[in-house]
Amino acid sequence: MKENKESFELELIDADEDFNERRIYDSLSGLFNRDGFFQTVRKKIQDTPKQECVMICFNVRNFKMINNLFGIKKGDEILKNIGDILKKRDKFGDVSARFHSDNFSIFMTKQSWLDNPLEDTVTEIENLVNTSNYHLDLVVGVYMVKRGNHSIFDMNDKARLAMKIKRSSGNSQFHFYSDNMMNKVRHQEEVIAEFDDALKNDEFILFLQPQFDGDGNFVGTEALARWDRKHTGEILPPSRFIEILEETKRIHRLDQQIWEIAAKQIKKWENTKFKDVSISVNISPEDFECINTQAFFKDLIERYQIDPKKLHLELTETAIIYSPVKFENFVNEMREAGFILELDDFGSGYSSLNVLKNLNVDTIKLDMVFVRGLNNDERAQVIMGSVIEMIKKLGMDIIVEGVETRGQLDTIKKMGDVHYQGYYFSKPLPVSLFEEKYGDKL
Ligand code: C2E
Ligand code: MG
Ligand code: MG
Repeated sequence: MKENKESFELELIDADEDFNERRIYDSLSGLFNRDGFFQTVRKKIQDTPKQECVMICFNVRNFKMINNLFGIKKGDEILKNIGDILKKRDKFGDVSARFHSDNFSIFMTKQSWLDNPLEDTVTEIENLVNTSNYHLDLVVGVYMVKRGNHSIFDMNDKARLAMKIKRSSGNSQFHFYSDNMMNKVRHQEEVIAEFDDALKNDEFILFLQPQFDGDGNFVGTEALARWDRKHTGEILPPSRFIEILEETKRIHRLDQQIWEIAAKQIKKWENTKFKDVSISVNISPEDFECINTQAFFKDLIERYQIDPKKLHLELTETAIIYSPVKFENFVNEMREAGFILELDDFGSGYSSLNVLKNLNVDTIKLDMVFVRGLNNDERAQVIMGSVIEMIKKLGMDIIVEGVETRGQLDTIKKMGDVHYQGYYFSKPLPVSLFEEKYGDKL
C-alpha cells in the first residue's frame, strides 16, 4: 500500500517536472519560451549584478511571405533552424528564446556582445533562405542596458520598441534603442488618440505658401496642413502628424477635409481680388488605397461649383511606384475633367527619367534637394539646368521648391523660365495673413 502511494507521488513529481519543462521551453524551436526567458535572465542578473548587459529582440521581415511562398511546414522548419543557430550561443552564456511566431529575444553580457559578434549569427540565419523571390531578412532591435533599476520586461520592451520603430535614416540592420524613441512612440499614441476629435473640432487648418514667377509676380499657392492643437496651444507642422496618419491608414480622412477647405476657399474668393488664385493640394499615396479620389474631387467641384483649373492636384512619385496603372488612370481622368496635375518632390527619392517619359502631368515640382546642392557646385548646376531644359522640352511647367536666397534665385533664373516656391519669397502663411499680404499684389 505504502509502495503504491510512493510511486504515485513519484509519478506526480515526474509529471510536474515535465509540466515545468514545457512551461519554460518552446516546443518548436527548443529555446526558452517567454516565461523561461524571464526566469533565466532574472537568475543570471541576480548571480552577476555588476555585469553590463544587452537585450536584443528580432523578427523576420515579412515572415508571412515564407508561409505564403513555401507553406507553413517550411515556415516551422525555418523557425526550428533559427532555434538551432541561436543555441550555438549558449556556450557564451547568452540566453535565447522564442516568444511567439517569428519573435525571438536574446540576452547577453556586454562582454559577449563584444567578443561574439551578433552579425555572424544574423548572417547565418539570413542564409537559411535566399531564393530569387525571397531573401530572409531580420529586423533587430538592441537595448544596451543602462545602470540603475530595471525590470526585465522593461528591457525587453525597449529592445522590441527599437525593432519596431522606423529609423529616420541609415540602413543598418541593427536598431538601437534611444530615449528619444520612447518620446516618439508617446507622440504617435497621442496623435492617434486625439485625431478624431481634432478633425471634428476643425483643428486642422490651411496655411498657404505663395508661388512666384521669375519677376516676382505672384502666380498661385500651395495648401499645407497645420494642426492647431487647441489644448496645448501649439501649431504642429505636417512632419509631426502626416507620416503617423499614413502609417495608421488615417491620412485620407485628413486629406479629404483639407481638400474640402481648399475648395471652400476657392469659392469664397470667387468675387474678390483672389478670384484667379489657384490652390494646390497634396495627395498622399495612401489616399488611393482608401478612397475613390477621382470621385471625391469631381464631387467636390460639383458641390462648390468651382473651376477645376483652380484646384491643382499634387502627387508624389511614391504613388506612381505603388501602382503605375492606377496613377496613370488617375492623371488622365482628372486632366480630362479639367484639373491641373502636378508631380511633387521630383528628385527627392526614386526619380527616374522613365517617370518623365510616361508622365502626362502639367507641372513638375523640383524638390529642394536640387537647390540645396547648388551652392558653388558647377556639376550640380549643370544637372539642374539640364533637368529644367528637358522638362521644358517635354512641354511641362516647373516649380522650383525651397529657394531661400537671392543667390539661389539668380543662379536658377539663368537656367530657364520657371516658377518658385520658397522662404526667399514667403513662408507658408495662415489664410488671413496671406490675404492681407497679397491682396494688394493682385
Ligand atoms: P511639400 O508638399 O513638398 O511642401 C513643401 C514643403 O516645403 C512645406 O513644408 C514648405 O513649408 C516647405 N518649404 C517651402 N519652401 C521652403 C524653403 O525655402 N526652405 C525650407 N526649408 N522649406 C521650405 P511643410 O508645410 O512642413 O510640409 C511638409 C510636407 O508635408 C509637404 O511637402 C507635403 O508632402 C506634406 N503635407 C503638407 N500638407 C499636407 C496635406 O494636407 N496632406 C498630405 N497628404 N500631405 C501634406
Ligand atoms: Mg506639395
Ligand atoms: Mg514638395
